[in-house]
Amino acid sequence: MNIKNSVIAYQEAVKHIPGGVNSPVRAFNSVGGNPLFIKKANGSKIIDIDNNEYVDYVGSWGPMILGHAHPDVVEALHQTAMNGTSYGAPTVIETEMANLICQLIPSIERVRMVNSGTEATMSALRLARGYTQRDLVIKFEGCYHGHGDSFLIKAGSGALTFGTPNSPGVTKGTASDTLTAVYNDLDSVLSLFSQYKDQIAAVILEPVTGNMGVIKPTEQFIHGLRKACTDNGTLLIFDEVMTGFRVARGGAQELLDITPDLTTLGKIIGGGLPVGAYGGKKEIMDMLAPNGPVYQAGTLSGNPMAMAAGLTTLKIVNEIDGFYEQLEEKAAFLAEGIQKNLEALNFPGVINRVGSMFTLFFTKETEVNNFSDVMKCDTDLFAQYFKLGLENGIYTAPSQFEAGFVSIAHSQEDLQKTIDKSYDAFKQLLALNDSL
Ligand SMILES: *Cc1c(COP(=O)(O)O)cnc(C)c1O
Repeated sequence: MNIKNSVIAYQEAVKHIPGGVNSPVRAFNSVGGNPLFIKKANGSKIIDIDNNEYVDYVGSWGPMILGHAHPDVVEALHQTAMNGTSYGAPTVIETEMANLICQLIPSIERVRMVNSGTEATMSALRLARGYTQRDLVIKFEGCYHGHGDSFLIKAGSGALTFGTPNSPGVTKGTASDTLTAVYNDLDSVLSLFSQYKDQIAAVILEPVTGNMGVIKPTEQFIHGLRKACTDNGTLLIFDEVMTGFRVARGGAQELLDITPDLTTLGKIIGGGLPVGAYGGKKEIMDMLAPNGPVYQAGTLSGNPMAMAAGLTTLKIVNEIDGFYEQLEEKAAFLAEGIQKNLEALNFPGVINRVGSMFTLFFTKETEVNNFSDVMKCDTDLFAQYFKLGLENGIYTAPSQFEAGFVSIAHSQEDLQKTIDKSYDAFKQLLALNDSL
């Protein structure tokens, strides 16, 4: 595979961009090698600056549920741009966006637009603290909620205790307000509730995880969380930045039949432009400025370009009959195909899938249900598989701990090719690795 131009582009990029990238995972550090610089993308395909074409399962890390450069989205952006790209004053498309979000996700009665998922979770947490007049928050090991200080916390040494900063620059003071618990382990949460009675403002989680790979919560865990939050006057925040409009039309909360108090959104609702949003019960959202005392603002929030791309995307997923059924069929076909390959070759691996999100874990375990299961994966083997994928024209996330995304633009041919190439890759890996 010739990636000469990407190699040169990377050498240029590192001269003035830290690590050559504007978001760390793009740098290929966990798999080795040179990141591919992208020239363009269309439908299910992405093309690098050496003109190599790949079937794309990254989908810009989630937003591209319609595939790339959907003609209606492109047209909406074109029309909008001609009328000016931002005014810093209200527009009716913001109301239209809010109406559609509230219609599709009934737990959201009021919604505020922001510019990224990170901003959405940070703001939702501030609101939860302002509303409950409490300081502590519980998050789960392995869940990612953007790069806000309160979320860059790892479990303390005594496991379930005050967190410690996961990044220099996060103060001990901030870290001490974040408690960490174990995903799919209700007892780990209940013991924090009893230890810190009446002090916990919110529990935040990915209701289906993507950021440690795909893991579904057990019924007992997710229903138990809802009850524990209600019993303790704590707000339950579903971070649906990834799962919103992805795992079902109404997000993971529809799939799991749970009503959170607050929901954060991003990715798909921006249709590929920078967007986030948070919303929930009217009574809580009315605490926000200008109605209430909790401050949050944004120069470009709700800007016309982002609203145009996002609203067009949401309208399409809402209006196409059987959109999510089609997506489910495509993703199931892919995951089952890969599963059959694992079995046929007796290759150790677990494929987790919820709707059009999936992760192939390189592990000898039989199930992957939480962060410590995830940590048992063979990341070297993953890196080898990843590189074979690129050579075979398959573009997946350059890290074991991520979700892959199937879009509505993935064709039967794309999916079959991916399955066939995975068979070849497993076979090659078996030949190359004595440990298997
Ligand atoms: C992507 C993501 C975020 C962060 O969103 P950004 O737009 O990258 O700031 C937060 N939470 C979850 C669950 C995500 O997947």
